[in-house]
Amino acid sequence: MNEIKQLLESNRKWSEAQKSNDPSFFESLVARQTPRYLWIGCSDSRVPANQILNLPPGDVFVHRNVANLVIHTDFNCLSVLQYAVEVLKVKHIIVCGHYGCGGVEASLVGGTKGLIDNWLGHIRDLSQKYDDELSQLSGEQKSARMCEINVLEQAENVRRNSIVKEALKRGQDLHVHSLIYSLKNGLLKDLSQH
Ligand SMILES: [Zn+2]
Repeated sequence: MNEIKQLLESNRKWSEAQKSNDPSFFESLVARQTPRYLWIGCSDSRVPANQILNLPPGDVFVHRNVANLVIHTDFNCLSVLQYAVEVLKVKHIIVCGHYGCGGVEASLVGGTKGLIDNWLGHIRDLSQKYDDELSQLSGEQKSARMCEINVLEQAENVRRNSIVKEALKRGQDLHVHSLIYSLKNGLLKDLSQH
């Protein structure tokens, strides 16, 4: 069986399992989309939003890119943000990074990886901004701290964004969170509490 056939078979089994657990599962999902959370995370295959949060389809609106960046001119991310805030009216925007992020680490070691260097340049700018702190660290510690800094800075970009600022001005119930995920134990940590 080729790989796509295997995927379709896997999907069919999943669909059947959902229906046997809850016969109205798909009908209620089709009827409306009212997620409470917007997740802005890394594209890394090991960090899937719904599975980590243990939430079913319908609960999380998701945007993922390499190294979970929120760039002021990225119309893909901004369109997701606007739709989530103004149409879906999510209550929580979660920027989630992860330790051992390949994008963050690539930006620290330098070298060239082609087109993606331009995207990772945003993290390189941040590593220069935090050079005093980062130069005291090395290896895994340095990478881990840079991953945390990146999440905090991207969440700050969300807060500074006009879509979010306007929503808060209107009195919309909206909160921005900075989380980081550990591949080693599968746990999330709230960086805003540290
Ligand atoms: Zn990553």
